[in-house]
Amino acid sequence: MRKAAAEPWLRWRPVPLIIMVTLTAAVLLAGVFQYSERKKNNPMQLSRLVVGPLQVNCYIVYDEKTSEAIVIDPGDDAQDILHVVKGKGLKVKYIVNTHAHFDHVGANKQIKEATGAELLIHEADNALLAGTANQARMFGMTAPSSPKADRFLKHGDIIKAGALSLKVLYTPGHSAGGICLAGDGVVFTGDALFAGSIGRTDLPGGDLMTLITSIKEHLMILPDETVVLSGHGPQSTIGDERRENPFLNAASGF
Ligand SMILES: [Zn+2]
Ligand SMILES: [Zn+2]
Repeated sequence: MRKAAAEPWLRWRPVPLIIMVTLTAAVLLAGVFQYSERKKNNPMQLSRLVVGPLQVNCYIVYDEKTSEAIVIDPGDDAQDILHVVKGKGLKVKYIVNTHAHFDHVGANKQIKEATGAELLIHEADNALLAGTANQARMFGMTAPSSPKADRFLKHGDIIKAGALSLKVLYTPGHSAGGICLAGDGVVFTGDALFAGSIGRTDLPGGDLMTLITSIKEHLMILPDETVVLSGHGPQSTIGDERRENPFLNAASGF
């Protein structure tokens, strides 16, 4: 009797199993398709050049379809930057300075003259942009002057080139007008956040607690897998910095 009662249930047992396996496979496949679709649809192409004596990372981001480009932090070596721009046939729409320290803006003039691009910065760094020669002198160096900004950026602005877009995050603390730029799966962090470190805060307009707050409020809310592309040094991810950056993890006391 017991055996007979168990049989109908046993007969049906494979059905929920099949449904579960099918559903799991569907969910996994949907994830894979979504991922590859996102990769396929991500219009952002990227070139990095290390420029100038202070080894600034200059990034050229562009949409391969329209060839429209944004140059981030052309700090020096204009000819090298223009070589990439011309080699790829790019139309530079914007030059964006993450902040106006002289090592990040030194080639603004030449890139602007050669491409006709608009120069964009945050207004709070306008005085710094006007005083690049004085800044460089503090380091015993010389620096060319920069043209004035064509437009000021504020938190939440979207900068577009073709189908790619970068969102402006206002992250003061390294300088008064520091910004980061968030794109699809990446964030350009200027001198706010580095792999394993943060920007210095002893220069005019710098403030340690302001910088820590900026990073925590606007960068640490990004997904762990977001690639961090900073103004100097190697790339990282938000997750790695969340776990290992001594200025940001629980042990830091901030
Ligand atoms: Zn700086
Ligand atoms: Zn720098």
